[in-house]
Amino acid sequence: MKKFALFLIPFLLLSAQNSAVAENNDPKQLKASIIIDDFGGGTGGVRDFLEGAVPITAAVMPFTENSREHAEWAHKNGIEVIVHLPMQPKKGKRSWLGPKPITVDLSPKEVKKRVEEALKSVPHAVGMNNHMGSLAVEDEDIVRAIVEVAKEKKLYIIDSGTSPKSKFPIIAKEMNVPILKRDVFLDDISSANHVRKQMNRLAKITEFSGKGIAIGHVGVTGKVCSVGVFQSMEEFEKRNIKIVPASQLFSTKLTEQYLVP
Ligand SMILES: [Zn+2]
Repeated sequence: MKKFALFLIPFLLLSAQNSAVAENNDPKQLKASIIIDDFGGGTGGVRDFLEGAVPITAAVMPFTENSREHAEWAHKNGIEVIVHLPMQPKKGKRSWLGPKPITVDLSPKEVKKRVEEALKSVPHAVGMNNHMGSLAVEDEDIVRAIVEVAKEKKLYIIDSGTSPKSKFPIIAKEMNVPILKRDVFLDDISSANHVRKQMNRLAKITEFSGKGIAIGHVGVTGKVCSVGVFQSMEEFEKRNIKIVPASQLFSTKLTEQYLVP
């Protein structure tokens, strides 16, 4: 049995005005998502997360040797899969982007083609987030082309928050594509202690706003990230915060949201 706190009564009153929301979703439940980036790339922490008991959301890089395998593995274990779309940053090595990234020299038509190909190389994907991209996410034409594909394929978007000037929120809202933004990075410092601290920030944000999104990584920091996440779960249970796939953070069923004029 779930316990509901009294201070959430205003949410109850609010939801009574909208029975559709109440049917699809329990508005009183605090929900957080832990998106783990860079599947398909590095191997550190991959098994820990994909065989672990926490329902993370797996963001899989397209076009790599392991893209398909990691996506299938996640899906088989009931873990939600999204495409981790490599996008051009302001600084950094070209090699960090992997094959066929979204770069600002591409035409919108080429961008759309690459996103469609990326989706084919990551089976079961129901959403997208960006890998790097501090330059490309600020380019309106590039972002619009990506959001158009998301709309056609009925995918949600998570803005990884690599630039404060990202065009994703405004264009996705304009085109009525479901979008949320990352609140916390878990492993910008690679220690389990730091990851636990960041998980605590995620809990606070979730308690404040009803939902929260953290991003961590597999690869060199993967093992440490998984340890920090798993060690935090008891605390999340105590605080009655449920870890859910990112799609469950949206207030109504995604397909219905798309139908709103
Ligand atoms: Zn990444």
